[in-house]
Amino acid sequence: MKQYDAVIVGAGAAGLMCAAQAGYRGRQVLVLDHAPKAAAKIRISGGGKCNFTNLNVKPEHYITQNPHFVKSALARYSSNQFIELVERHAIDYEERTHGQLFTLQGAGQIIQMLRQECDWAGADIQLNTRVSQVKAQADGGFIIQTSEGDYVAQSLVVATGGLAYPKLKATDFGHQIARQFGLNVMPCRPGLVPLVFKSSWKDWFSDLSGLSMDVEIRIAGYTFREAMLVTHHGLSGPVVLQASNYWQPGQPIEINLFPDNDVLAELKQLKAQSLSLSKWLSQLSTKRFSQAWLTKYPLDKALAECTDKELQDYALGLTQWRLYPEDTAGYDKAEVSLGGVDTNEVSSKTFESTKQSGLYFIGEVLDVTGHLGGFNFQWAWASGYACGQVC
Ligand SMILES: Cc1cc2nc3c(=O)[nH]c(=O)nc-3n(C[C@H](O)[C@H](O)[C@H](O)COP(=O)(O)OP(=O)(O)OC[C@H]3O[C@@H](n4cnc5c(N)ncnc54)[C@H](O)[C@@H]3O)c2cc1C
Repeated sequence: MKQYDAVIVGAGAAGLMCAAQAGYRGRQVLVLDHAPKAAAKIRISGGGKCNFTNLNVKPEHYITQNPHFVKSALARYSSNQFIELVERHAIDYEERTHGQLFTLQGAGQIIQMLRQECDWAGADIQLNTRVSQVKAQADGGFIIQTSEGDYVAQSLVVATGGLAYPKLKATDFGHQIARQFGLNVMPCRPGLVPLVFKSSWKDWFSDLSGLSMDVEIRIAGYTFREAMLVTHHGLSGPVVLQASNYWQPGQPIEINLFPDNDVLAELKQLKAQSLSLSKWLSQLSTKRFSQAWLTKYPLDKALAECTDKELQDYALGLTQWRLYPEDTAGYDKAEVSLGGVDTNEVSSKTFESTKQSGLYFIGEVLDVTGHLGGFNFQWAWASGYACGQVC
C-alpha cells in the first residue's frame, strides 16, 4: 500500500487549494477524484469565465446553521490573497457588478493555476479513481480503498463538494463518510437555482419567456436587486437564484417590478392626465409584458374612476407582487446545494472533525452555502487554505 501524509478526496476548488498548501509544507499529498478531469465545476462556472471571488466577502454572504463558523477561515484567507495568486499567474480579470471578479480569458486558466500550484508543491493528482471504502486504523490514520489500489494516510480530507450538477460527477460521498464517522449531516436542497411555476402560471411565464427585467426581490428579511429572467418554466436570472437560497416550499417571494419608480405617484399622475396604463407599463418594461400583465391583472374600471385606495392596491400589486413558486428546477440546474456536514461538528480553524481525529471536511460538502457572486469559490479557497496548513 502506498503511504501519504494526506489523501484528499475531490480535485475541485477546495481540494486543489488544500493540496497545494499542504504540499508547500512538505507533506506528501495525494488528491483522488473519480472524474476524468479535475475541477469540472470551475470550468463551467460564471458562464465559462469563472466568477472566482468577490471584493466584498463578509460572513453575512453565507448560509449555515452556525453563522460564526465561516469567520475564521474567511479572515485568514481573504479575496485579496486569491487575487494576488491570480495576478502572480498573470491571469487577466475584470470587475463586474457588485464586486464580482471574472477571468477575461476563461475559467480554464484558474484550473491551470491550481494544477500548477499543486505541481510546484509536489502534490500528486490522480483522476479516474473511485474511492470504494475508507477505514480508520486503530493506531491513527486511514486506509483508503480505491479502484486503483489501496492507500494509507495520516490525514483524510473530504473535499467532494455538494450535490448540484450531478452530470459533472457530484455525489453525496462526503456526506456518507461524515455519517460513517458519526457526524451529523444537515438536510440538503438545491440552491442558486431557478424557480418553477406549474398550473395556471406555466403558460403565462412561457409566453413571456426571454423577458429580462431589473427587479428587487424580498424574501426572509433579505432584499436582492439584479436581473430577473422569465423562462418557459418560471423565473431565473441572478436575482431569482439569490432568492432561491432562502425559498422554502409553500412560501411566497415578493417582487418589486419597478424599484426605481414611485409607482403610486405615477399612477395618480396617469389618472390626473387621463393617460394610458398600458402605454405607461410598456414604457417601463415592454409591450409584451404590459399586455401579459393587464391580461392577468386587469384594472376593472377606467383609471379616472379609481379611488386613491384602488390605485394604492394596484401599485402594491406591482411593487409587492407576491408569487408562490411550486418548486425549484432541482439539482440538475442548481449551482450549489444547501445543507451538508454539520458545521457544529467541525473545527472552524482546522476543519478537522470533532468526532474523528485526522478527518477533515472542506468546501461545499460542509453546511456552508454562499450567495451568488464568487462567494462559493472564496469559501472553497479559504477552507482549503486553512485545512492545508494543518492536514
Ligand atoms: C453551473 C455552475 C456555475 C457555478 N459558478 C460559480 C461561480 O461563478 N462562482 C462561484 O463562486 N461559484 C460557482 N459555482 C459553485 C462552485 O462551483 C462550487 O461551490 C465549488 O466548486 C465548490 O468547491 P468544492 O471543491 O467544495 O467542490 P467541487 O468543486 O464540486 O469539487 C468536488 C470534487 O469532488 C469530486 N467527487 C465527488 N464525489 C466523489 C467521489 N465519490 N469520489 C471521488 N471524487 C469525488 C468531484 O468529481 C469534484 O471534482 C457554480 C456551480 C455550478 C454548478
